[in-house]
Amino acid sequence: MQKNILLTKALEASATAVAAVDRLSLSPRQKLVGAVAGVFLTAVVGAIATVDGSAGAVNAHAVVEKIRIDPVTLGDAGDSTFWYEERFGRGDTFGSLLARLQVSNIDASRVVGDAAASRLLRKLRPGTSVRAEVSRVGELQQLEFITADDRLGRIARADGRISTSERILQMTREVVARSTVVRSRALADVQNAGVPASVALQFSQAFGSAIDVGAGLVRGDRIAGLYEVFYHEGQLVRAGRLLAAEVTHGGQTHRALWFDGGSTRGYFNPQGESTQVGFRRVPLDFAKVNSGFGSRLDASGQQWVTHKGIDFGAPIGTPVRATGDGVVDYAGWQSGYGNVVVLRHSGDYTTLYAHLSQFSPGTRTGLRIGQGDTIGFVGQTGWATGPHLHYELRHHGVYMNPMSASLPSGANLPARQQAQLQAQAKALFAQLEASLQSTAVALVD
Ligand SMILES: [Zn+2]
Repeated sequence: MQKNILLTKALEASATAVAAVDRLSLSPRQKLVGAVAGVFLTAVVGAIATVDGSAGAVNAHAVVEKIRIDPVTLGDAGDSTFWYEERFGRGDTFGSLLARLQVSNIDASRVVGDAAASRLLRKLRPGTSVRAEVSRVGELQQLEFITADDRLGRIARADGRISTSERILQMTREVVARSTVVRSRALADVQNAGVPASVALQFSQAFGSAIDVGAGLVRGDRIAGLYEVFYHEGQLVRAGRLLAAEVTHGGQTHRALWFDGGSTRGYFNPQGESTQVGFRRVPLDFAKVNSGFGSRLDASGQQWVTHKGIDFGAPIGTPVRATGDGVVDYAGWQSGYGNVVVLRHSGDYTTLYAHLSQFSPGTRTGLRIGQGDTIGFVGQTGWATGPHLHYELRHHGVYMNPMSASLPSGANLPARQQAQLQAQAKALFAQLEASLQSTAVALVD
């Protein structure tokens, strides 16, 4: 019975922990409120529940950890402080976060107005939990969170002044195996099975050129993976990389593993062939760069504006080629861009090709495009001062410089690294098989 309770708690904790955010909380509790007097709290986190296939017995393996909150000397009752915990949301400002943490307006503006403190707060990623110790009247005593670069950031009041510090976190790494049978949409099903969103996206990256994990899997297909998670003092901090992935589609099993061979890194099948989508830097066979990525003066020469793409100069009618395998997301007219094609690629990349004189026959939404296929022709439609191709690349919605961004190469592994890759593949897939045979209860249909 004890075990069952532990298991339930463990699964709740782990479900909270793997909610669709990359960066996870300091504590599974949403809100931690308590007078501070050297309290010990017990947290059940990062549980792995397993079923023994033969006997059907349930074993719960939970990490139970006592978390010590540092004692604070209490004066009279009026001096008592409280701890609050809140998640920094996507639409949040630092001000709205501090207000939810019960920090007074005066203290909030002091923190936001402090150069070092606001620099530290800028390392706060949406989804991160922030803990604050606040007095009854809203005076901030201290505030802690895990920064985007895996440090423990702290803002504290010391002698009436604000001090900030950062400390490197000692993190432990664990490898987790998960598997699920596809019901409708593979990436959503994977997340429902407890895989963090950041890892789910890596499945489509891993199988880029072989399988469209996002849309190409059907009911009854199987998807499994082995990925890293990082803990700090027993608390899940974030998920890491998908190390090995297996997809069974139409009775065929496809495998991909992450391999870092220095200059060549990415996802490969166990034979050393790249499974990732590759990108060309330039969508034209011959071109010169007219205008680069980043800041430039606008047409009037009065004002710096951000250029989110690259302009390639080429004569009207020059074929424009897809820089990677993908699907047409949009082909049509948009003011400014003129005739424009947007391609969606696996790994959450998109590319955009603007000012086209015309489209290639058949280029319309949903059409599957191979790398190097002609999608249209250089023109000067829309707001273009002369014939050129305006090209944009985005990853997870963020504009990248196509000329310098590190892009999945799609290149196969050099022969000298084959043995190393094969040894790694053997070990990883053996580990995946073993973990899935003692399969996690909550994760399998
Ligand atoms: Zn441009």
